Amino acid sequence: MKEIRSEGDRKIVKLEDGTELSAYAVIVTVGGEPTKLGVVGEKEYHGRGVSYCAVCDGAFFKGADLAVIGGGDSAFQEGLFLTRFANKLYVVHRRNDFRAQAILQDRLLKMDKVEPLTPAEVKEIGGNGDVKWIDIERDGKRERVKVEGVFVFIGFKPVGRHLFKEHIDHDKNGYLITDQYMRTSIPGVYAAGDTRAQLAKQITTAVGDATTAVLHAERYIEELKDIERVFPGEPKDVAAETASKADLLVFAPGEVILREGEPADRFYMVIKGEAEASQTGPDGAQVTIARFDPGDYFGEVGLLNDAPRIATVRAKTALEVMALDRAAFSRLLESSQATKAEVRRVAEGRERLDRR
Ligand SMILES: Cc1cc2nc3c(=O)[nH]c(=O)nc-3n(C[C@H](O)[C@H](O)[C@H](O)COP(=O)(O)OP(=O)(O)OC[C@H]3O[C@@H](n4cnc5c(N)ncnc54)[C@H](O)[C@@H]3O)c2cc1C
Repeated sequence: MKEIRSEGDRKIVKLEDGTELSAYAVIVTVGGEPTKLGVVGEKEYHGRGVSYCAVCDGAFFKGADLAVIGGGDSAFQEGLFLTRFANKLYVVHRRNDFRAQAILQDRLLKMDKVEPLTPAEVKEIGGNGDVKWIDIERDGKRERVKVEGVFVFIGFKPVGRHLFKEHIDHDKNGYLITDQYMRTSIPGVYAAGDTRAQLAKQITTAVGDATTAVLHAERYIEELKDIERVFPGEPKDVAAETASKADLLVFAPGEVILREGEPADRFYMVIKGEAEASQTGPDGAQVTIARFDPGDYFGEVGLLNDAPRIATVRAKTALEVMALDRAAFSRLLESSQATKAEVRRVAEGRERLDRR
């Protein structure tokens, strides 16, 4: 895959051979690459003493002398984990000062079994089929340090961001920023696993992320199609943006979605199930005034008039609704005259009902 771009409500995925695939949603799971030392022996001994993941491989080195290469948070966090197994742990860093947070430095460097080797550069990794030593250069001199494991943490390059020409939110290290549903800043684009900003780079979290992304992407597509069906005049990109900003809310039969007299803050569209609106009659009893099926919407009157709710809406059956906040509702109206006219027409009909 070479590139992902947005076109209307679609994501276009361009492959290496030029083929283009079109989809409503894309989940980016391209991971990343640990930065390599690039020294003799590193490739040869990868998996035989050279590792880029302490949590994954640390337990294979119980009672061994180990080296962590790097001076940042990752090196120190993973180094702390390795102290559970290591007999001795060298922290090899090419500068005298470590970049890791002070608290991590304090915790690791105060341990008796931990010895910093700075400023030192790894020149070679060697052994006899498994790692037995590293050669480092310190103060212009080459030294051999006996270790059975070398854990390299000198950087990790997430690759997802480079697939996009348009802006996609990422942190300072290039990891894609997502919310709890794995949504990125581009409508319809999700990210899962090592390429997204998160604490653990593990198979379990990658699989969990992807499961969440798939479930949410299904909902997103459903909501997008509903928006396009109900508001056909909406530009496709605005429909996608609206669907990506929508919250899916679930109500049990009888539950109140909005209450007469309360301030209006959201607009709702029924996705599944039925709801009904009622008003307080002169005798104080509730009078049913409308029913809502999938594709019907409510909550627009209060938002349009900036006034309290004119009715109470309850779930009649198990109900799923899509909710938009005031800003997303305004964007929907302002981007299509046809949508604006239709929503106003519906609202005026309901207001007439209210005045009777
Ligand atoms: C040496 C090592 C050992 C590990 N051991 C463990 C372990 O024991 N337990 C554990 O839980 N975790 C382990 N991890 C971490 C674990 O492998 C990752 O957290 C997990 O694989 C992340 O999954 P992912 O799908 O995000 O990325 P990846 O598994 O990296 O998968 C990304 C895939 O996308 C492909 N790709 C990249 N760019 C493109 C593109 N442009 N087009 C098409 N395809 C692309 C890549 O080739 C790759 O196949 C280890 C990591 C390393 C490096």
